[in-house]
Amino acid sequence: MATAGSAFQVNENAIQMALDAPAQDSGRVRTILAKALDLKGLSYAEVGALIQVTDPALLDEMFHAAKRVKEEIYGNRIVLFAPLYISNVCANECVYCAFRSSNKTLERKTLDQAEIAEETRAMIRSGQKRIVLLAGEALGLDYILDAIATVYATKEGRGEIRRVNVEIAPLSVEDYRRLHAAEIGTNITFQETYHKGTYGNYHLRGRKADYAWRLECMDRAMEAGIQDVGIGALLGLTDWRFELLAMMQHANHLEQRFGCGPHTISVPRIEPAEGSDLSLAPPQPVSDLDFKKLIAIIRLAVPYTGMILSTREGARIRQEALQLGISQISAGSRTDPGGYGEENSHSAQFSLGDHRSLDEVVRDLCQMDFIPSFCTGCYRLGRVGADFMDLAKPGDIKTHCHPNAVSTFQEYLEDYASPETALAGQACIERTIASMEPNLAKFTRGMMNQIKQGKRDVFC
Ligand code: SF4
Ligand code: SF4
Repeated sequence: MATAGSAFQVNENAIQMALDAPAQDSGRVRTILAKALDLKGLSYAEVGALIQVTDPALLDEMFHAAKRVKEEIYGNRIVLFAPLYISNVCANECVYCAFRSSNKTLERKTLDQAEIAEETRAMIRSGQKRIVLLAGEALGLDYILDAIATVYATKEGRGEIRRVNVEIAPLSVEDYRRLHAAEIGTNITFQETYHKGTYGNYHLRGRKADYAWRLECMDRAMEAGIQDVGIGALLGLTDWRFELLAMMQHANHLEQRFGCGPHTISVPRIEPAEGSDLSLAPPQPVSDLDFKKLIAIIRLAVPYTGMILSTREGARIRQEALQLGISQISAGSRTDPGGYGEENSHSAQFSLGDHRSLDEVVRDLCQMDFIPSFCTGCYRLGRVGADFMDLAKPGDIKTHCHPNAVSTFQEYLEDYASPETALAGQACIERTIASMEPNLAKFTRGMMNQIKQGKRDVFC
């Protein structure tokens, strides 16, 4: 892995030039879409051209192209996960967040290790296998590392959490090495906004007020050996087109410097939060149509990346976004520490848009002809970083995604599903296997049968 070179910086002039460029004609837009359908990704200028598309017919073509690219790379599987908030104590002052230090109405809570184990058991009982561990930015790394170890060590019935991704405060290279040694999955940090002036307006105190410390954190993480990193922006603080182009710059930088772009890109839109200063409306709201456009363009431009949508969004927009290239969603989420045992909206980070249980979301996915997946295969087999990208870029990863989706979903159906979901799920599995080429179908059925016969954690 190459680590020479300097850390990421946003080139605001290049973004402005792309935004000021004249709109391209429909022929040029269709040429760009054809290139994207070859899974080659898009250049910065091509992303700029797609941003300017407003014609409904062309937009429709863009949306269809994005769905096809997602299916080419990952097939029809949608990976499911849930957040585990372990503390809402925070030393920072982010204007939009309920956890900000000046919010006196929030009930503060930091889970001890026994409580973290209890939350983990509750998540396992609902069928979760993958989590993102989150904490406000006040606690030391030792606490976080203990929490990760607790989650991995906790068993409940026949289940366990098999992948712990983390979304915590940016660290030094040395501390990222310690985090890497804790066997995390993806290290996720959203820049919130890549626009430096806007960043200063919304991050008033604490370490997070340091724009560059946060912006450069993925370089430090990758220098420390963490190969799977997740980037994102909190949409609504500034012009979404600026954030999109900045994320493209970030992805290109990581690819050029480390030979591996972001494992995931997240697209959270600001949601009301009790005690935040933005509880009524985000400063630059992103309409549903622009949101869908942004998702489609990311899928076309960075085809290999996992794209994540959270339960901030309501069920309807989540269903629409799935058709545009989202590949991972959270479900059955709680954003308050201890919330899986006992929900408390007075200690939550933001309001949820989708209150459905994991079981309901799973059933809905089946009815939309997606196969829900609880797969953790790549990370468990060391298929990370550039090794993962070598499979993802040409679209070969789905020969792992599909069998693993079937085996982990079969496990879910056997151990956790309601009778109604079990019925819909079994039909969904049969449709998925029927769509595979014969050798892969036979292999996949073999994995599924192992689960039916009582084996657990079967992956390839
Ligand atoms: Fe703290 Fe993160 Fe909320 Fe900022 S966004 S106040 S750092 S928990
Ligand atoms: Fe994700 Fe790899 Fe599993 Fe596919 S095989 S769902 S990329 S972990």
